[in-house]
Amino acid sequence: MSQPRDSYPQTSQDNYQDSYQGRQHNGHQDAYTPVPRQGPGGSYRDGIQDSIRQEPRLLAAGPDAGWARHLDTFGQWEPQAAGPGLLEVLAESGLTGRGGAAFETWRKATATAGTGRKGLFAARPVVIANGAEGEPLSFKDRTLLAHAPHLVIDGLIALAAALGQTGGRTSSQTSAGGTSMYVYAPAASLPRVKQALGERPGGKKIRVVQAPETFISGESSAVVNMIENGTALPTDQRRRLSESGLNGRPTLVVNVETLAQVALIARYGAQWFRQAGTATDPGTRLVSMSGPAFTRDVVLEVPGGVQLSAVLKEAGMDPGSLSAVLVGGYHGRWVRPADLALTPAGAPGRAVRPGAGVIHALDLQTCGIQATARILNYLAGQSARQCGPCMFGLPAMASVLNRIAGGETNPRLSSELDRLGRLVSGRGACRHPEGTTGMVSSALEVFAADFRAHLSGYCTVPGGVAA
Ligand code: SF4
Repeated sequence: MSQPRDSYPQTSQDNYQDSYQGRQHNGHQDAYTPVPRQGPGGSYRDGIQDSIRQEPRLLAAGPDAGWARHLDTFGQWEPQAAGPGLLEVLAESGLTGRGGAAFETWRKATATAGTGRKGLFAARPVVIANGAEGEPLSFKDRTLLAHAPHLVIDGLIALAAALGQTGGRTSSQTSAGGTSMYVYAPAASLPRVKQALGERPGGKKIRVVQAPETFISGESSAVVNMIENGTALPTDQRRRLSESGLNGRPTLVVNVETLAQVALIARYGAQWFRQAGTATDPGTRLVSMSGPAFTRDVVLEVPGGVQLSAVLKEAGMDPGSLSAVLVGGYHGRWVRPADLALTPAGAPGRAVRPGAGVIHALDLQTCGIQATARILNYLAGQSARQCGPCMFGLPAMASVLNRIAGGETNPRLSSELDRLGRLVSGRGACRHPEGTTGMVSSALEVFAADFRAHLSGYCTVPGGVAA
């Protein structure tokens, strides 16, 4: 049996500086050339969707951009002046959430804008910038908060102002319409966020809350619970935050990368945004790239609908030298690095969903079953122990997979793993069991030959022996 890699489960503790430098380390520092200032509707770059070589948008201001460089790169702009029209522009842009679910941003915002009490005692909405990265393989949000915090804050204020001025609410154009604003982020990101809030006008109106470093701390209802009562635990999926979220107010929890995209769209327009990516997956997204196959973790900005193999090559990887790629993180799917588009909008078999933009490449020297077992062990330990199927089912699955990974040759173990997965999936207060079983089921598919080998007493990894 091959030796477990020390890097599993990855914690991606590389700080944002490492990630940024890692990008340069791989020889692609050109991609961080500052973007020229453009007016709304201005052309950004011709034919960009044909190329993986995406010029930077989100990280255009370069490393550690302060307030002055932010304005110098993106231009003077007052996000609090964004009106309800912003929601229409977002609809035209086709922006989807970059936190994992890929839900249309305008639809989610509109649902929040249209609820709550109206009139004199109107319930003022709440907008929360969600920078929690409980996913151990994700580090693109902390990279963004480190290098482009002002873009995130711009998007937060613009969206808050748009919500504050819809649904019959009125407000001054110099405020966010009474909407409360929060930035929720892990401890490592807070100093940079606070520094950014301190150096811009009106920044002190935005409250900052520390996100715990747990896998589920970024789940929307867990975010609201953490701010409300200090416990980052999910609540019943039927609770609609858009109607009754933080302290009973209509609440919108938005991933920080999504907010940075909102800021760019509000500045430059929907058509500008659509000049990158495809018609069904417009714009760009950040991806966190890691794994035993990488010498260093990196963050890339890639166009929507790009081929996965092109992204791997851009990061300096030869797809032919990989055994599999985990796309979407611990709740994602294992795939072969074949011709698959990286998009939430593609047909099954031709596309793989990026989730929160995680790409984890496995080299030919690492056993996929052992890698999956280590991830499942981690996920089983991350259950909030509120729901039986999650609390007992995930450890049971982990136990079976560990037996297979360890070389036990009982032929029933594979089907037992599959059976447990079907029992657990979809039976929790949050998507943790479903996401976990989806990842395991993709391992059963992609590593089918490896499972057969393990159950026959050997491992397909060179030098590996299962029993
Ligand atoms: S499904 Fe699991 S992680 Fe989600 S709330 Fe229930 S116990 Fe917690």
